[in-house]
Amino acid sequence: MDVKNINYCHKCLMPDSRPRVVFNEKGICNACLNMEEKNNIDWDQRKKEFIQLIEPFRSRNGSWDCIVPWSGGKDSSSIAWKLKYEYGMNPLLVTFSPILPNNVGNYNREAMIREGFDHLYFRPNQKVHQILTKRFFIERGNPKVAWDAGINAIPVQTAVRHNIKLIFYAEHGESEYGGKVLDENSKKIRNFTEVIEHQIGDNPQNWETEDVSINDLNPYIYPEIEEIENVGVKSLYFAYFHRWSMYENYNYIKEKIDFHTSEQRTCGTFTDFDSLDDKFDDIYYYLQYIKFGFGRCVRDTSRLIQNNHMTREEGLNLCKKYDGEFPSLWLNDILNYLEMNEREFYEIIDKHRNDEIWRNSNDKGWQLKFPLI
Ligand SMILES: [Zn+2]
Repeated sequence: MDVKNINYCHKCLMPDSRPRVVFNEKGICNACLNMEEKNNIDWDQRKKEFIQLIEPFRSRNGSWDCIVPWSGGKDSSSIAWKLKYEYGMNPLLVTFSPILPNNVGNYNREAMIREGFDHLYFRPNQKVHQILTKRFFIERGNPKVAWDAGINAIPVQTAVRHNIKLIFYAEHGESEYGGKVLDENSKKIRNFTEVIEHQIGDNPQNWETEDVSINDLNPYIYPEIEEIENVGVKSLYFAYFHRWSMYENYNYIKEKIDFHTSEQRTCGTFTDFDSLDDKFDDIYYYLQYIKFGFGRCVRDTSRLIQNNHMTREEGLNLCKKYDGEFPSLWLNDILNYLEMNEREFYEIIDKHRNDEIWRNSNDKGWQLKFPLI
């Protein structure tokens, strides 16, 4: 890769260094274009389609009729609430434990369950999980690789095991935030074959080492496609059928439950209500900044600009203040978890710094070559 420049979307603030983003000839990113398209969607019609689709799955004997992969955050909680209390479904909420859960996340999950939800909380073998988290932080600059496999695998494993035929995901990331959309159907129904194919070359079955046996890897391994098809599990993107915005989800859920936000602003951004449940999130987003040159504030402001909750100017000012801020808040917990000292930690971070987009100078230290501002 030879980076000559980084272009930022003229409407939001997303750079073209974001993996899979595509810009049109006017310099607008596909997330913005998708958002514009949403104004032409007949949402009443989509809702009708949704009702028709879920009707055959509805439980009439007390069994769970659907699974919501659930972090306890505003998005998945809004979905669970709507399914149960607006659509009369009987969801089972399934959580793959955060790497390092924090108090806000625990509190919000508890507040929700008290309002009448069944919940399955899965904690993987913590010895193995620590080894994998550390390994992928070092090798790939992403401590959440194993966690990501786990949140994908456990809800589907649960569906197969309990014969639950419907799973609700939030949004199809590629169409919502930029990326390649194969066809209209892939925005609506999650294609299990595609998910598994994405893992080829990185199948958790290949993560066996001296310290980690194949049996240790069970929580991360996706069921075979035949198993999924035998049960007839189908999974839908809730956001295809309902207009989606993280801000509106937040407003919705805080009216329903005593939803707590973080006591302090989240490091690297201006929000206190998004992605709150794992202490590792701050460092995850910081590493995105190191690798791709944009941090959590660019991500958050871009989403709000796309939804017309913020102007580009306002977003830019927030990014000037917060983007790329070092996530010091949970640093000690993270170092303890990784069994590393600060020096080792910074060495790993710099190992993943993309020098196509960063330059180091004696007086200023590391600087982005093509900054947003
Ligand atoms: Zn954009």
